[in-house]
Amino acid sequence: MNRLAQLPSVDRLLSHALVAPLIQQHGRNVITRLVRKTLAAAREAASAGHLLPDEALLIQKVGAGAAALATPNLRPVFNLTGTVLHTNLGRSPLPEEAVDALISAARNPCALEYDIETGGRGDRDDIVSELLCELTGAEAATVVNNNAAAVFLLLNTLAQRKEVIVSRGELIEIGGAFRVPDIMQRAGAKLVEVGTTNRTHLKDFAEAITPRTAMLMKVHASNYAIKGFTHVVPEVELAALAHQHGLPFIVDLGSGTLTDLERWGLPHEPTPQEAITAGADLVSFSGDKLLGGPQAGLLVGRKDLIAKLKKNPLKRALRVGKLTLAALEAVLRLYRDPDRLAERLTALQQLIRPEADIRAAAGRLLPALQQAMASLPVSVAITALNSQIGSGSLPVDRLPSAGLAIRPQGKKSGVLNRIEAALRKRPRPIIGRIEDGALLLDLRCLATHEEADFAADLAQLTC
Ligand SMILES: *Cc1c(COP(=O)(O)O)cnc(C)c1O
Repeated sequence: MNRLAQLPSVDRLLSHALVAPLIQQHGRNVITRLVRKTLAAAREAASAGHLLPDEALLIQKVGAGAAALATPNLRPVFNLTGTVLHTNLGRSPLPEEAVDALISAARNPCALEYDIETGGRGDRDDIVSELLCELTGAEAATVVNNNAAAVFLLLNTLAQRKEVIVSRGELIEIGGAFRVPDIMQRAGAKLVEVGTTNRTHLKDFAEAITPRTAMLMKVHASNYAIKGFTHVVPEVELAALAHQHGLPFIVDLGSGTLTDLERWGLPHEPTPQEAITAGADLVSFSGDKLLGGPQAGLLVGRKDLIAKLKKNPLKRALRVGKLTLAALEAVLRLYRDPDRLAERLTALQQLIRPEADIRAAAGRLLPALQQAMASLPVSVAITALNSQIGSGSLPVDRLPSAGLAIRPQGKKSGVLNRIEAALRKRPRPIIGRIEDGALLLDLRCLATHEEADFAADLAQLTC
């Protein structure tokens, strides 16, 4: 008990000369709370027989606690996972044009819903709808929070208490609890499944049409592929069948890029333009997948259908903010000049980065990683890797890449988990992946101008 009386009081610590700058930086409330917490922990440790910390140590702990509290929860990481559009790491990076636009919109009042020509009220969708129509060939467009919201809104608006016919091969689950049947149910629509997992024919759809049918729907399989004995009804035929019955044909495209990716040697990904040309009445797709923009759900198609979506009160609940619109507008503008897209759109740049370029980066960073690992029972080597696009885009295609592999010497695989955790706990966390007994750092998404910072950070690493 007497020993505990030797601990300084809360007031004594708060008035210590070394605590003043902490109060200045973090505020008196935060530091008072941390001083109390630190003293309580010291008391508890002392009762359990541990040594009493001196004042310097107590203050150091308060400082460390304050620094931890001040670290933003949403902070940048190095994405060395090899998955470019990584949903858990924020999907698409934004191009500089979009970053500038959103900073300006964040800092200043802007004409979000204000018609500068007339001085009257405007519509926030108008900020991007003309661009979307120009780029996709659609008559009208609207924007919501993400593609899940877009699908929900269209089902709720056009198919409440009615039936939606979808192929069994397209009843997908996207990570994070987006399942087509569940969304349908919540939107108030009745799912009518037709065909089989691997083969669906036009007559399957035709036979399922009843007076209660609201639409024929196609959902892009996104994150899986069916190979072998398969049949999918072409969009043109589905559209024609729907139109014969006076029904809309709706396509959830998932990723949806606005340009032909084959031009850069990437596999083909269906575009909204193609769906509209094939006769789709409404197409929905994400803003932050292959499009390379901010999180958003884009809906393009027939004017009367878009007008109905906009009248649904849910549209108000699912609308996007000015920051999203600012970034989205800037990204869409880049698509007006496809010839320069590859040098401006960050996500595309990362996706088409040549393997030789990535391998050269691995060569430049090898010494820094070897140095950081010098005292550990591991080997470090440049290795060939396969990146993936991510976000359910082109799931079976791989992008030849390169990076650094850390392998344990002997059977001590526990060391990899230790290194992985140490990398993850850096001020800017370094996220790799453990695969086949190695910790792999895929360098595709590390920009050349970030290499120096990255190497300097590795020099600070302690495992
Ligand atoms: C990704 C995806 C969604 C969900 O889009 P979010 O923008 O993540 O909400 C819906 N449908 C398909 C086919 C998708 O690939």
